[in-house]
Amino acid sequence: MINWNDGLNIGVKKLDDDHKKILNIINTLSVAIRDDEAESVIDSIFDDLEKYTKIHFDREEIFLKKCNYPKIKERIEHHSALIKKFPELKTKLTNSLNTENAQEVSYFLTDWLFNHIIEEDIPATDTFEKCALSKRHVLKQSILKRIINKTTKAFSFTKRIFLLSVIPLTGMLIFAFILLFNDYSRYEDIKKTSSFTHIISNINELAHSLQIERGLSSGYISSSQSKFKDTLNKQRIIVDKSIKSFNNKLMSVHGDKLLVISPFIETFIKDIDSLNNFRKKIDANTVSQSSIINFYTEIIRNILGITSKMAIYNLDKEISSSISSLSSLLQYKESLGLKRAYGTMLIENNEILNKEKYIKFIQLSGSQSTLLNNFNHTATALQKDKLNSIINSNISNKIYNIENSIKNHNFQDVNSVIWFESMTELINGMKIFEDKLTNEINMLIRNELEDATDKLFKWILYSSIIFVLTVIIIYVFEQSSKNEIYQLIDAMKHLARGGRTLKLKSTSTNDEMAKMYSAYETTRQKLLQGDMYTQLYLSKKELEIQRHQKQNLKLEKIAFIDILTGVLNRRKFGEISNKEIERSTRYGRNLSFLMLDIDNFKSLNDTYGHALGDKVLQHFSSTCLNMARSIDVIARIGGEEFAIMLPEVDAEGAYLFAERFREKIYSSQVHIEDKIIKYSVSIGIATLDGDKDKEVKDILQKADKALYRAKESGKNCSIIYT
Ligand code: GH3
Ligand code: MG
Ligand code: MG
Repeated sequence: MINWNDGLNIGVKKLDDDHKKILNIINTLSVAIRDDEAESVIDSIFDDLEKYTKIHFDREEIFLKKCNYPKIKERIEHHSALIKKFPELKTKLTNSLNTENAQEVSYFLTDWLFNHIIEEDIPATDTFEKCALSKRHVLKQSILKRIINKTTKAFSFTKRIFLLSVIPLTGMLIFAFILLFNDYSRYEDIKKTSSFTHIISNINELAHSLQIERGLSSGYISSSQSKFKDTLNKQRIIVDKSIKSFNNKLMSVHGDKLLVISPFIETFIKDIDSLNNFRKKIDANTVSQSSIINFYTEIIRNILGITSKMAIYNLDKEISSSISSLSSLLQYKESLGLKRAYGTMLIENNEILNKEKYIKFIQLSGSQSTLLNNFNHTATALQKDKLNSIINSNISNKIYNIENSIKNHNFQDVNSVIWFESMTELINGMKIFEDKLTNEINMLIRNELEDATDKLFKWILYSSIIFVLTVIIIYVFEQSSKNEIYQLIDAMKHLARGGRTLKLKSTSTNDEMAKMYSAYETTRQKLLQGDMYTQLYLSKKELEIQRHQKQNLKLEKIAFIDILTGVLNRRKFGEISNKEIERSTRYGRNLSFLMLDIDNFKSLNDTYGHALGDKVLQHFSSTCLNMARSIDVIARIGGEEFAIMLPEVDAEGAYLFAERFREKIYSSQVHIEDKIIKYSVSIGIATLDGDKDKEVKDILQKADKALYRAKESGKNCSIIYT
């Protein structure tokens, strides 16, 4: 009886039930054979088995087809091979008188069934499972689970391990790049601004020199021209230099950085173009004083606009504020310049009635306080102090008094030269402060740029180090995980090949790998145990068989060996001799026979006893066995009578052997207890005559006759039959 092992289940219930049922029928058959049931009973069980096996095969083939199983043709062939074998098995089962033969049929069937399940069905389990899974089952899985399953299918294990490390690494890289880009664009911004700040000092210069040219041009128009001519020309050269220098600065700044100030630059270029024409008009004295002031003021305002735009860059707050302060200051200084011009004109022309210039002058005072507010809004305490000290200087008081006189139309007490010079002093003081502020800004920006560069390079360095370290760590972890898996794979392959020697020891204490390794180790030990059981069982079986064989051999030996002497008995000797006679006759070979009879044995027996007689018989036979060749056949054919067959030996050879043997016996002494016994033998010799001697009895008769003659001749001699 062989029990069903659940390990044989393939997961398709109907097929598993079939297998169980077939095993059941085979078991029933086996029991029926054991119990020597009637042939009809065994017959019907076998029919049942055949019927059910066919049903199973049909079912399985339909299933395999449905599943598109690739090796289906091979399987169908196997099935039909067994079905074809059934009649033969049935004959063997029912015609057999031997229970063992019948049992063999049931063993064959069991073996077939197990092979069918283990070697064919179990490897196809995957196909079966996929096929048996209903759509509903698939839907029942959560989306995440389905994604996980799909990922498992789509990527190999090593690929998954690889991606597991590469994806976070890529994320990290992207993140690092974003941060790096952020830092880089900040660095770029600062660099951009740093090129602008150089522009700031140029703007400062240019605006200042244009302011002076404006004043000189206005003076040139209003008074005796020769007084201003030289100074104006010199100033124009200074302005042109400033323009050129400013243009060069613009050239050195890349186009895209100028975007924010480009409208100002376009206007500036137009303004510069018209400047030359306007100067010619001044020289020709065809423009009014107010249009001169308006013209220059427009240019200066445009240039100063550039500075105010620079503060919008996303810079350090301190720099931004400083640029704003500077911008306010520049405009404040410009308003001072204008005020100087309008004041001068109002005083010189005593223009109480020139309402336009007067309003402008008043307006300028208003805009000045706005610009100062702007400055105070962004400037540092130190900068405010500095400006206050300039504004509240003696010069300022003087200017304040003159300004009040102008506002009150009190032109008699004021002098235009004093006004102009005082204002110029204030403006120059302002200019020095502006230069200082510009330098400060440049310094701040330089520091900021250094800082940003430093930060950028540090960031590149640190992120590179972190990246390299991460890659190394990932590599080490990945390889160590892979190594463990590969070790397990090798070990499993080793197990599958039948190896049981490879022990796996996990280096880690109690992780998943250690559990896998320990599961492997348990499997190895169980398989080893199974192997040893099988070996034990097989060796037991083998020993049993050997014991059987030995027993059989013993029984056989008893049947043809003389127990006392160990030589053949009469019957076996007859059998062998007859075969040899036939062969020798056929091939015309020599064959001689000796008949040997111990002389006066009866009296030996009588004198020394039967036991001694036995000893003599044993001495005789062992001497004979020693002297004979391996092909010679010796037999005891009576009490103290022996026969020897000598193949390939003629009469002469036989005689020589007989004599040698006889002499050996005669010269021997048999020691028994304290007695020494001597005895002799008589030998009759006969050689095969192929024509006359058909059987052993014919030739032994002849030898016997020769023996008789030897006895008659006085014993202890050999005689050839003639
Ligand atoms: P001969 O020289 O003429 O051959 O005289 P013999 O005494 O040897 O001849 P005989 O045939 O008269 O005697 C044979 C004796 O051998 C008779 C029997 O007691 C004895 N004998 C036969 N079988 C055995 C045996 O197995 N053991 C012993 N000890 N004696 C045996
Ligand atoms: Mg005798
Ligand atoms: Mg005898």
